[in-house]
Amino acid sequence: MKRFTDRVALISGAAQGIGEATALLFAAQGARLVLLDLHAESLARVAERCAALGADVIAQPGSVAERSAWDAAVAAALARWQRLDILINNAGITRDARFEHMGVEQFDAVIDVNLRGVFHGAQAALQPMLAAGRGVIVNTSSVVGLHGNFGQTNYAAAKAGVIGMTKTWAREFGPRGIRVNAVAPGFIATPMTAAVPAKVTEKMTAAVPLQRLGAPADIANAYAFLASDEAAYITGTVLEVSGGLSM
Ligand code: NAP
Repeated sequence: MKRFTDRVALISGAAQGIGEATALLFAAQGARLVLLDLHAESLARVAERCAALGADVIAQPGSVAERSAWDAAVAAALARWQRLDILINNAGITRDARFEHMGVEQFDAVIDVNLRGVFHGAQAALQPMLAAGRGVIVNTSSVVGLHGNFGQTNYAAAKAGVIGMTKTWAREFGPRGIRVNAVAPGFIATPMTAAVPAKVTEKMTAAVPLQRLGAPADIANAYAFLASDEAAYITGTVLEVSGGLSM
């Protein structure tokens, strides 16, 4: 029996990186999928690969910073399947700069996608989940949200905010059948981190007890666990997946 047979999952940022790996894993595990991302073309390619794994999938281009994009994605799921079981609130961006050089536009851009985007996604997805009396939300934080990071004031603020929202929603919606958790990835090899200079990557790898960067599948597996019934008694938690970076 596949883990997500008959479940409907909405995954943001699914065109590449962690979101793409998540879409493929959930497809292989029997989920029906709505994939949301800015990039229509690459999203369509990911959707094709999910369909090749046997998944029924809708590719929904749009920005997570716009509530209308989320409403359209949720409406598409309800129109086709009359249910929404899982939200993987994964899309995110970086706009790094030392604090003294960080423009407010860089701050706002990251807050819009990484914090307000997560807010919009959860609020849109909660409506059918509350009506059904069940649902699971997994939000994407970061070790940076736990500890801060040089050059990432905006990102740290957003990712710490995601933790605060996760715990708040776990309290508000637990009594109504909805679990809400977050994953805090460490340093994961995706297009987001591809621009980091090799020297920095080497230094970061050396600091990881498991002595390697994370793979997108490492995070996809954590999302899948938290979204599955195996995590039925887990809510309000922040699961760090970082090779032991934060000890
Ligand atoms: P990624 O490779 O950049 O993929 C993210 C996807 O989300 C991209 O396709 C991106 O499009 C899309 N996206 C960006 N803004 C969007 C918007 N407004 N609406 C819809 N889609 C949007 O990033 P990743 O490494 O897979 O990261 C996934 C999540 O994990 C993010 O929340 C990130 O902050 C978090 N995370 C990553 C790491 C890491 O080391 N990689 C560590 C900790 C946390 P564009 O290409 O246009 O940006």
